[in-house]
Formats: sequence, C-alpha cells, structure tokens
Amino acid sequence: MEKEANGNDRVLVIFAHPDDAEFTSGGTIGKWALEGRKVSYVVCTDGSKGAETDRIDTADLIATRQTEQRRAAVILGVTDITFLKCPDGELVDNRGISAELTRMIRVLRPQTLLTWDPWRPYQLHADHRVTGYAALDAVMAAGNPRYFPEQLVDGLEPHQVEEVYLFGTDQPDIWVDISASFDLKVEAIRQHSSQIGDWGEVIQHVTEWNSRVGRDKGFAYAESFKLLQPRCSICR
Ligand SMILES: [Zn+2]
Repeated sequence: MEKEANGNDRVLVIFAHPDDAEFTSGGTIGKWALEGRKVSYVVCTDGSKGAETDRIDTADLIATRQTEQRRAAVILGVTDITFLKCPDGELVDNRGISAELTRMIRVLRPQTLLTWDPWRPYQLHADHRVTGYAALDAVMAAGNPRYFPEQLVDGLEPHQVEEVYLFGTDQPDIWVDISASFDLKVEAIRQHSSQIGDWGEVIQHVTEWNSRVGRDKGFAYAESFKLLQPRCSICR
C-alpha cells in the first residue's frame, strides 16, 4: 500500500450505531491499531433507538451509548471519534450526510475506509444501508475537487481513499486473521453493556461466528469483507 509522505497509514471506520464497528470489525481494527495504524471512527447516528422500552430517558440513552462507544474505542486503540448525532433509525441519504462524510475523509485522509455493505440483500436496517451508500458516495466525491468545492479552503485538499472494506457483506473476498486481537474484540464488545442481554449468548455467538469465518482460511478467528479499490479504473 502506498503511504503518505509523513508515513501515516490511516484508517477511517464509518458506521451507523455505537457497537456496529466492534461487532463487525473489532478484531481487524484492534489488529491494525496494534500494528501502528491510526484508526478514526465516525458514528452517524445517536443510538437513541437502542432500547426496547420507552422507560429510559432518550438523552440518558444517547449519553450512555456514547460513553460505551468511547470505552470500546479505547480498548481497540482507536485514536478519535466523531459523533454525527443523526437521529437513530431516521438516517436519510441526502447531500448533507454525503457532504459531511466527504469533509471527514478530506480532513482525516485515510488510505483505508471501512463501512457497511449497502448492497447486502435483505439488509433490514435502513441506517446500515444509508450509511454504506453515503460513505461510498463520499469516497467518490472526496478525491475530486469538483465535488463540494466550498470545502476546499484553509488548506483542505481532495483525498483519494485507496481501498474500501465493506463489512456485513454476503460476498466476501478478503479475510483478516484476527486470532491475535480476538480477545480485544470481545473486551470492546463487552463495553456496550446497554445492548447486551445475555453476555454468555453474545460471546458464544461471536466466537462461533469468527471461528467459522476463519476456518476455511486456516485462521483460529477471522473477519471477512468485500474489498473495493476506488482508484482502479476497471472498477469504476
Ligand atoms: Zn447498527
């Protein structure tokens, strides 16, 4: 991978809800952070639908979920988090979210971007679909100065993401060995205690899931993704 002149090897993870990144990609994120990569998070929604009761105060729930997200990020070695605070369950794919994600890419300048696969059939959660589409629109826009030119002030320049890893995909073509970072992933997931009913069930599910994904590739544990290379001319 070509790296920036300053040696940075940056990763940006764009996801819909607090806990999405840890469940889908926590092992990969933890592994890359251990290798010295600088990982940033953008969380699109406020997580305010993350309780199946109306007896919890919404502001308290949002605050709890942000706290849990920050703790999980620290465990994985994520360096910074941006909360866009769009209402949970109501994310809309409009120019506003695409513009903001484009600006974040131009500011953070990642080589690698992780986000939801918006094309997965029967993906029920609208926020996951919208996040994936908006993040990919932003990848295409960020490298071209003719998109959102009003952002290109005070030294902010276009930036081309080199590779996109889509998580939650049904068409994986790249596998990451997370055997050395699986314990970190589990510990990060554990921080989202407001979302966890039976911890034993959750850990069993995650263990079986990631070991099943790794089995065919000879890894104890793995996460799988669909890889896109936006700069590749035949991919456009
Ligand atoms: Zn989610």
